Amino acid sequence: MSTESSATTPSVAVPPETRVAIVTGAARGIGAATAQRLAADGHHVAVVDLDEAQAKGTVEAITAAGGRAIAVGADVSAEDAVAQAVQRVADELGAPTVLVNNAGILRDNLLFKMAAGDWDDVIGVHLRGAFLMSRAVQKHQVAARWGRVVNLSSTSALGNRGQANYAAAKAGLQGFTKTLAIELGPFGVTANAVAPGFIETEMTRATAARVGVAFEEFAAATAAQIPVRRSGRPEDVAAAVAFFCSPDASFVSGQVLYVAGGPRT
Ligand code: NAP
Repeated sequence: MSTESSATTPSVAVPPETRVAIVTGAARGIGAATAQRLAADGHHVAVVDLDEAQAKGTVEAITAAGGRAIAVGADVSAEDAVAQAVQRVADELGAPTVLVNNAGILRDNLLFKMAAGDWDDVIGVHLRGAFLMSRAVQKHQVAARWGRVVNLSSTSALGNRGQANYAAAKAGLQGFTKTLAIELGPFGVTANAVAPGFIETEMTRATAARVGVAFEEFAAATAAQIPVRRSGRPEDVAAAVAFFCSPDASFVSGQVLYVAGGPRT
């Protein structure tokens, strides 16, 4: 008997009728654009950020456009706060099955000047935060037999001067993503990473300020090195995240998609 005739047709996991998404660090920048894009694509969205009042701006933009969203204040690196935030989302919006781990910070310095606290803070928000959020959300995804996790990596994962902590966190997130894909795949859950290059946000504005260069000058000099000759917008990243979250992406898992206007910046 050929393997072809004995094979059963594998079933494609079916998303729940209402897809509830959590986007962390969504008060501004890439997270805010992603929350708005997922809402436009029909998700109910929990806008999670350190400060609930700041997150309300994104919620207002979503509701003004006809979508549904709530603001949730939580530090993603704090275990109890994460448990409470995910429970609140489940109670107020429904079981979260889409998770975008986007919250992030920079504490750049050359290795010989980097304080241990700056290492711990960066690893804490990016890696511990993504771990705690994913662990809390996976129980809802496994129960629904469907889910999406998207982690924000970076071109810095390939190495970047002054970012030993951040590069380690962003490279770590790629290994984390691939492991989630292996562990959660049997439950209809995919996990992927988006690795942006230079995107115009408060984060890159802060970098320009730290090195003492006007942002416009900094952005123009960076854009000149990017093959498509422009810097990225938060919406460019949101579009890539939206693809991974879509039902169409059900056979794409454990991947890293660089969104950098070229192979890397
Ligand atoms: P951003 O403008 O600095 O926004 C980050 C958001 O995350 C802020 O609202 C911040 O809140 C929040 N946040 C920080 N720590 C948090 C915590 N512990 N718990 C919950 N929320 C927290 O950054 P962005 O440029 O949009 O970047 C978003 C993600 O993309 C990050 O993971 C970043 O590393 C990644 N990325 C960005 C670029 C880029 O060029 N911009 C490139 C590659 C990757 P506060 O304002 O209160 O601190």
